[in-house]
Amino acid sequence: MNRPSLSSRLRAAAAERQARQAVRRRRTVIAREDMTALVDGVQLVDFCGNDYLGLSRHLDVAAAQQEAIAWHGVGSGASHLVSGHHVLHEELEAAVAEWMGYPRALLFGSGFNANLAVMQALLGPGDLCLQDKLNHASLIDGARLSGATLRRYPHGDLGAAARQLQGEAEGVALIATDGVFSMDGDVAPLRELALLARAHAATLYVDDAHGVGVLGPGGRGSVAAAGLGVREVPLQLVTFGKALGTHGAAVVGTEEIVEHLLQTARPGIYTTAAPPAEAAATLAALRLAQSEPWRRAKLMSLVLRFRRGAQRLGLPVLDSSTPIQPVLIGDNARTLAAAQALEAAGFWVAAIRPPTVPEGKARLRITLSAGHTEGQVDDLLLALSEAVGAAPATEPETA
Ligand SMILES: *Cc1c(COP(=O)(O)O)cnc(C)c1O
Repeated sequence: MNRPSLSSRLRAAAAERQARQAVRRRRTVIAREDMTALVDGVQLVDFCGNDYLGLSRHLDVAAAQQEAIAWHGVGSGASHLVSGHHVLHEELEAAVAEWMGYPRALLFGSGFNANLAVMQALLGPGDLCLQDKLNHASLIDGARLSGATLRRYPHGDLGAAARQLQGEAEGVALIATDGVFSMDGDVAPLRELALLARAHAATLYVDDAHGVGVLGPGGRGSVAAAGLGVREVPLQLVTFGKALGTHGAAVVGTEEIVEHLLQTARPGIYTTAAPPAEAAATLAALRLAQSEPWRRAKLMSLVLRFRRGAQRLGLPVLDSSTPIQPVLIGDNARTLAAAQALEAAGFWVAAIRPPTVPEGKARLRITLSAGHTEGQVDDLLLALSEAVGAAPATEPETA
């Protein structure tokens, strides 16, 4: 028999990762305070998390979860459709729907799960799923699992998207896009995509994991920031693990789509409901995101401060106006070395390498939070200019 052994395949893959300097390693956090983390015994300012509003250790959020645990325990006991659906889940769905201005919301255990669920429930063989090339992995995997034809257009290329839609005129078409692209920080051309969807009788689905809580009026995300709503974007993904600082996700959508997901989406049906106390925590975080707009204002002023400083120092920052501020380096080893130099200076910044980003596009992914101080941002900029080895720009700043 010529069957290859699993072990030899895994050894080859490990050797290949080693050769490409692409081995990933988890860091262990021992304690956190404000925006610093004690990591493997070293105190670092965290510039790689997605806790954009600084809510993940907020005392009100923690107290809400603790109180709910005292009343309701730590587990849900079953899936939502069996006996795990709790009044706290119900309250959270209602609050998310109301906040986002949508008729209805449906909870999922995670954003990744929600994307698998949405694609599987809405699409099948013969249908078309059109996606931006830089979409999150969960959207791509969801489309593959659904059996629909997956077409990926070059990042933001609406002409290519239109051609791909024209090429597949049979079957239902879903256009799926990140609202804010997680590794580049730029915002999708949502108004143009909405027009495209309308012209081709397609449905637009926006995964706004990094936009909700951060962008738009009331923090309602990139769709609201573009002046759009349920009419143009009948389904959106909201995740709780980023700006809201907790865990889990919900989709918001029309009554018809959400009911169909509840009835048929396997990754939502065959899984244990999240603990009710987790819903209580997210509800508390949501209230803070609504009632404390200063968090968004402070975050955006830090984004501006970082960008002005980066331009002055000649750092190769990508064009992003969101809290995701990537510094493009290109080469894997150089990116890793820059991240290590930053760490030696007391900053925790993620070195993002392929396959998370395309080959040759390795980068430092810096994320800002309302929890950071201006001083921390200024210190990071200085450390970055040394770590990246960029020469200060000679031209005075104009913008
Ligand atoms: C983080 C993220 C997800 C996954 O959400 P989780 O709740 O972390 O599973 C999905 N889409 C995008 C764009 C994300 O950034």
